[in-house]
Amino acid sequence: MVEDVSTATSDLIDESAQPMPMAELRELFHSLSPEEFRPLARRQEIARWRQTNRFCGVCGAGMRRHDNPVERAMVCPSCGHVAYPAITPAVIVLVENDGRILLQRNSHYGVSYWSLVAGFVDPGENFEEAVRREIREEASIEVRDIRYFGSQCWPFPSNMMVGFRAAYASGTLCPDGEEVIESGWFGPDELPPIPRPHSLARRLIDAWLTERRVQGSR
Ligand SMILES: [Zn+2]
Repeated sequence: MVEDVSTATSDLIDESAQPMPMAELRELFHSLSPEEFRPLARRQEIARWRQTNRFCGVCGAGMRRHDNPVERAMVCPSCGHVAYPAITPAVIVLVENDGRILLQRNSHYGVSYWSLVAGFVDPGENFEEAVRREIREEASIEVRDIRYFGSQCWPFPSNMMVGFRAAYASGTLCPDGEEVIESGWFGPDELPPIPRPHSLARRLIDAWLTERRVQGSR
């Protein structure tokens, strides 16, 4: 859906919006519906962008809003540098192997569930290369048949999660021991605690579970 200009620029004009703590935003992500969360995420992303672009990253002068109200941009009056809201892409991938999926437990403090391989896209990489590299680094295996699944705004902060499915090709599963402390292949009836609803990780897992049930009932 294409927004009209009045809606799109109103975020920039609203100078009062302040970025909230990440933990608070994460809680709202889980407690609100996706439809309720979307406009909040948008306002928060823009508030954070304004907060982190008060000074020019090139020459250090104070930034001001672009003269053209249609442009959501900050401009440096000294050197002309223009800063648009930046989104950092990250990939997340469900790897399937003979009716089971790869799940892993992350070493990040407080994470009690198992999830899918995920990581940021490196400069110079495309999504497929990022998928292959992350799986190689975190799980020591190779994959084939990488297919796009869907994407999700992930404002914790300023990320775009891009979801894929892939098939196991070769190698022996081996967690890296740093970022990933445990990993394994799990069938539909033996899943450990998985991410809560509303996340792209959960949507990938749920879609796979639905497929397995349909196949099982044939
Ligand atoms: Zn400047």
